Amino acid sequence: MASTPAPDTATRHVRVAVIGSGFGGLGAGVRLRRAGITDFVILERAASVGGTWRDNTYPGCACDVPSHLYSFSFAPNPRWPRSFSGQPQIRAYLEHVTDTFGLRPHLRFNTEVSAARWDADTARWQLATTAGDWTADAVVAATGPLSEPRIPAVKGLDTFPGRVFHSSRWDHDYDLTGKRVALVGTGASAIQIVPAIQPQVRRLTVFQRTPAWVLPRADREISAAEHWLHRTLPTAATLRRAVLFGLREMQVDAFVHHPRLLGAVQVLARYHLRRAIADPELRARLTPDYRIGCKRILLSNTYYPALAAPNTELVAAGLAEVRGSTLVAADGTETEADALVFSTGFHVTDLPAAERITGAAGRTLAEQWGGTMEALRGTTVHGFPNLFLVIGPNTALGNSSMILMIESQLNYIVDALTRLGALGATALNARADAQRRWNDRVQRRMRSTVWTTGGCTSWYLDANGRNTTVWPGTPSRFRRETRRLTLAEYDLIPRPTAAS
Ligand SMILES: Cc1cc2nc3c(=O)[nH]c(=O)nc-3n(C[C@H](O)[C@H](O)[C@H](O)COP(=O)(O)OP(=O)(O)OC[C@H]3O[C@@H](n4cnc5c(N)ncnc54)[C@H](O)[C@@H]3O)c2cc1C
Repeated sequence: MASTPAPDTATRHVRVAVIGSGFGGLGAGVRLRRAGITDFVILERAASVGGTWRDNTYPGCACDVPSHLYSFSFAPNPRWPRSFSGQPQIRAYLEHVTDTFGLRPHLRFNTEVSAARWDADTARWQLATTAGDWTADAVVAATGPLSEPRIPAVKGLDTFPGRVFHSSRWDHDYDLTGKRVALVGTGASAIQIVPAIQPQVRRLTVFQRTPAWVLPRADREISAAEHWLHRTLPTAATLRRAVLFGLREMQVDAFVHHPRLLGAVQVLARYHLRRAIADPELRARLTPDYRIGCKRILLSNTYYPALAAPNTELVAAGLAEVRGSTLVAADGTETEADALVFSTGFHVTDLPAAERITGAAGRTLAEQWGGTMEALRGTTVHGFPNLFLVIGPNTALGNSSMILMIESQLNYIVDALTRLGALGATALNARADAQRRWNDRVQRRMRSTVWTTGGCTSWYLDANGRNTTVWPGTPSRFRRETRRLTLAEYDLIPRPTAAS
């Protein structure tokens, strides 16, 4: 069992402090150990590993990238039950990875990092946590891009007498059977929740600000023969992964350079909608007015049928006000509800973790960014020596597995940490000019993408209207860009005599 430390007054030192134990933090642990770096801890605020896949337990929760691609390349799982496996299986996979790669001794649960501050005198990070203080030569922040639920400030929300919760913090103590349930949002989580709860509730009201483009989902059970093949001939699983990877690589050109090519996919999405929804008025409310791909494309065979069910009502407007148990939409529609579920996404471009990390100039990441995140190669930030962000700015993907990007970043981070020793330096500080050049290049490439030209607003854009989340290229290009550290992009910080 991993230890859950009692608050400790003595400050402990490690070479690397990893924050978070989702795919990013666990992957970092595996890669550090493989590189011979064993002096590290993984600080996790919750009581178990899993990140996204521990926190999101809503009915119907599953990945929307095929499991054989949405998993670590170094830990293939020949037992995925479905092509798009569910949350319990993905969570179990991460527990399995934790055991298989010997990560338990490194884990510190119930340990929330409340502050991380670079101390120039010792050239170390000082971390304050809910279970004592740590110092570290380097910090890998794998706190997750989708880990802090966002509930909009709706007027009168505190007057609602029933249950209110966010989809990523599902209230399993509350039985929805026979209840009038209102769901706010129609994004990736909502379209999984709607068909899962519609048969159970008395009435389901879905508040939709903007419709999503939805494509069929090629989900099926993985057969016993396939399981056998993957177990006995691992190359077959590798090949399957390569095909899934290659197909998605080929799609990127349309997203990034030629959004018009996505028109053909849009035709398919329209057909999918027409086949599922007979009522032309409902179909009109479900038809987006922006190009497919601009917002995340959703996959479902069951969402539209559930919306067409007699006990479901789609309100084509956002939730504007709550008056006791009456929910008032922006178009004036009024609905009575017993429970209110927000499926309204996460703090993505305003990461709470950025407010807790203070760099060499005494400013937090959030202060330095001023609403627009920037990093060098999505990973390091000028003025924050030896801080490595997993899924940092412009590393998210619109159409493929985030694990590909995480693994690329881990190549880069491990290269940085192993080379530091050889260079006789203690820390690396991203050069401001290198960071500027990288972000100029990223934003130049962003101009032609569907995320910029597609005619929508999305959670990919920050408060300043800039897309600081998505990588405008193929995952393999990012892999090349992060294969090794380019030393010229960094200033080296020597080991201070006081700390040696
Ligand atoms: C419902 C859902 C479905 C998704 N499906 C897909 C998919 O199909 N394909 C895909 O590519 N991506 C998907 N994603 C995106 C997914 O978030 C990433 O793929 C990946 O799981 C992120 O891993 P992570 O380790 O970076 O972050 P997380 O999994 O979010 O882990 C972050 C961890 O950091 C911890 N933490 C945060 N702050 C602190 C702190 N201050 N101190 C200590 N610990 C802290 C959290 O508790 C958490 O355990 C999905 C996301 C959601 C929400």
